[in-house]
Amino acid sequence: MAETLKAIKGMNDILPPESARWEWLEDTVRKLMRRYGYQNMRTPIVEPTALFVRGLGEVTDIVEKEMYSFEDSLNGDKLTLRPEGTAGAVRAVNEHTFLYEGGKRLFYIGQMFRHERPQKGRYRQFHQVGAEVMGFAGPDVDAELILMTAALWRDLGLTIGQDITLQINSLGQPDERKAHREALIKHLEAHADLLDDEAKRRLHSNPLRILDTKNPAMQAVVESAPKLLDYLGEASLAHFNAVKQVLDAVGVAYSVNTRLVRGMDYYNLTVFEWVTDKLGAQGTVCGGGRYDGLIEQLGGKPAPAVGWGLGMERLLLLLDEVGIKPPSTAPDAFAVVFAGTPLSTVLVAIEGLRQQGLDIVLNPAGKDGPASPKSQFKKADASGARFALVFGPDEVAQGQVSVKPLRDHGEQVLQPLNGVADWAASLLAARKS
Ligand code: ATP
Ligand code: MG
Repeated sequence: MAETLKAIKGMNDILPPESARWEWLEDTVRKLMRRYGYQNMRTPIVEPTALFVRGLGEVTDIVEKEMYSFEDSLNGDKLTLRPEGTAGAVRAVNEHTFLYEGGKRLFYIGQMFRHERPQKGRYRQFHQVGAEVMGFAGPDVDAELILMTAALWRDLGLTIGQDITLQINSLGQPDERKAHREALIKHLEAHADLLDDEAKRRLHSNPLRILDTKNPAMQAVVESAPKLLDYLGEASLAHFNAVKQVLDAVGVAYSVNTRLVRGMDYYNLTVFEWVTDKLGAQGTVCGGGRYDGLIEQLGGKPAPAVGWGLGMERLLLLLDEVGIKPPSTAPDAFAVVFAGTPLSTVLVAIEGLRQQGLDIVLNPAGKDGPASPKSQFKKADASGARFALVFGPDEVAQGQVSVKPLRDHGEQVLQPLNGVADWAASLLAARKS
């Protein structure tokens, strides 16, 4: 036998019934986006490597050690599988001068790639929902983006404050960070013996990122470090307060985490994360913030922007952890076909019912014809269908089909094969009960 080929480590197949959970999440996201006026965008999975190096910053986890980068073997171009969505979204907006007529609210759903050690909630191919608002500078958009995520948790059935909690911070503006940076370096240098190798390496290239460390041995040092919030000027504080005011008014609970800096260089002002204690070290489900400098940094006409990214695998793990299941996608009816029944009669009838909007599963026959009625009824039950459509020889000879309730104690009734539209409505109505 030929050798079985396997998927790449850390990259998962998503098959039924698991895929039904994904479709439910995607449907819920799409409805949410419509409710807030966000439009879908789709960009390539492969981008020039330079986009991420310039966009995310050289001294970031992603660019330093997580990118799938390679040379196009045909022309030598340096390419990278996208590790996140914002840089590509900005590239596309710049390339198409898409903000020409004004700001845009956009979203995308798709896979991202990072070469990390695979574990629960951390994969090499994973999926994100991303929302990006470009062209608006006000704190109203920052707040709206956070409110949207809160609405998504509610739509999915999660309890905010229990299953998932919000942390926010402000990174201020570049000049404010400069003053803080000096104080931070001084503090870290004073405790140089407690810094790990990565922190020592980043001490002068990207000290702010050290606050983001997950190393337990360094928590005390970063806990006592100077807080960026104390270095913010009036305008930055006013922006932060405006966001907090909206959250307070709408009633979305949050805590201010002065050490929240996020992994990418491009953020300024508002940053936030939704975290859970139910997924171990992979506790961040969603993160985002303002990135007012990025559009210009990537060659576009200067314009402010803000957005978030959500890890779909982590969100689905969390939903599983708290026992939330998608609504049933069971068919309305399952067609049980007896041997000897003309197939065209069966298919004409169920096509007619499908045209009326019913979901109907046909049990496919093998090369010796249909399986035994007993085995078909078993499958009909397992499908979760509300009705079995029984195409038996007697019924069909009289131009009829038996409609047998599988989940309620209703009566089995005979319905005419001619004019299925007349009784399709009664099956549709059963959906609501
Ligand atoms: P972490 O600190 O857990 O590595 P991150 O800060 O690198 O996360 P972001 O770049 O902010 O993550 O990406 C947004 C979201 O995408 C994360 O909050 C997380 O839910 C998800 N995510 C990031 N990396 C992975 C991965 N390797 N596998 C699965 N989900 C991921
Ligand atoms: Mg990471």
